[in-house]
Amino acid sequence: MTAPHTGGCRCGAVRFEASAEPHHISYCHCGDCRRASGAPVSAFVGFLADQAALNGKSLKSYRNGPVERSFCGICGSPIAYTDKRLDNQIYFMLGAMDMPAYFKPTLHAYVREQLPFLHMPDDLPRHLKTSVPRPEEQRPDGRQS
Ligand SMILES: [Zn+2]
Ligand SMILES: [Zn+2]
Repeated sequence: MTAPHTGGCRCGAVRFEASAEPHHISYCHCGDCRRASGAPVSAFVGFLADQAALNGKSLKSYRNGPVERSFCGICGSPIAYTDKRLDNQIYFMLGAMDMPAYFKPTLHAYVREQLPFLHMPDDLPRHLKTSVPRPEEQRPDGRQS
């Protein structure tokens, strides 16, 4: 499968599209993603923001420090993660992609926050904290790590 890669929320009011291949596909075990998604582990597909477009009047977002998470205001599906410190990057929820099976994660991030009963037997690299270094080492929620 080649670009464009499309996705959207559960009700269809928010749609997005990326015109190029992702540069990043990962699991995140951090508590912030867990709260935002409601799921024990999250997964993200990262694209360059200038190669991605989002559509939908129902698109809402919640900002916490440098991090902004967007979601559909009608059905509540989480859509994307951006961080002001990561220029031109957008990370879509893997589960919001139309073809999620195509985007196989290549690493685990924040395994130090992984739930103890969650076992994912793969040989992927595991990062104790983030796999994408920020200029200042801060947690996604804006607190100092
Ligand atoms: Zn929706
Ligand atoms: Zn996370």
